[in-house]
Amino acid sequence: IQNGSLLPPIKINKTKIQVLSTCPFDAITEILTTTYVDSVIYKQTVDTKYKDLIFFQIIVQYATNGVNNMFYFERASYLLTLFDEQGSIINCACNISNLINKLLVEAPSFKQRSTCTKCHEEIKNIAIADIDSKPILQEGLHIGLQKSIDIFLSRKDIQCKSCGIKIISEIDADTHVLIDVEHAYHSTLLAKIGFPDAPTNVSLSEIPIHLKIKADNYRLIGIISYDSYAEQEMGHYIAYCYRVINIWEEYDSLKNKCVTVMSHKLVRPSVIAY
Ligand SMILES: [Zn+2]
Repeated sequence: IQNGSLLPPIKINKTKIQVLSTCPFDAITEILTTTYVDSVIYKQTVDTKYKDLIFFQIIVQYATNGVNNMFYFERASYLLTLFDEQGSIINCACNISNLINKLLVEAPSFKQRSTCTKCHEEIKNIAIADIDSKPILQEGLHIGLQKSIDIFLSRKDIQCKSCGIKIISEIDADTHVLIDVEHAYHSTLLAKIGFPDAPTNVSLSEIPIHLKIKADNYRLIGIISYDSYAEQEMGHYIAYCYRVINIWEEYDSLKNKCVTVMSHKLVRPSVIAY
């Protein structure tokens, strides 16, 4: 997918709209599309459970027809519903977790069920896991990510919002699992929480290929890296897809095409997806 910043304006409802900095949207779209192509189970889920969601209709269109003018029109029309329009410009630069919370609200990574014996059961959709990054900082990504996700999934005693009694809340994973790891590689935050010397990048080979979520095994589908440049306010997101044939592909929307990369490549992960 080409970044909107590199493309001419697109005519929507007789107005020419320029979409800029689409890399957060493009990165997540690349990962879920390659998963749709690579995994029969994922394809079935998207074709049934998510078939009415516009974001997944765009993914299916991309997987089926590749990128064409129709794809860019659909992308711009959809981004128009997610971002504020300034004149004839939509600037899509944003934090990727915030965007994923919008894109996957109806196709969440997790469902949190809180059952109150007195009043009701509440189910909350969690689009992306916000984990405690301490285990990653202490033991490295390879061991620490599983520990961080175990803490995230553990049963928690919380208070019922309606009646105040103590209730138990449980989290179950859905079809895809996205994890926010930005905090573990953010130099300013690392200094604040007592890890000033922690590395701010890892090689792709350090990312665990399997993650155990309760009784199920999840397989890595890709990561989104974040590169910030001192001279620019917003950085740039790039998708690295871990294909079914166990190779890494880099999808950078500022480059012309995807390239295969070696697993010793250093990245700064922001999102890891299973
Ligand atoms: Zn209650």
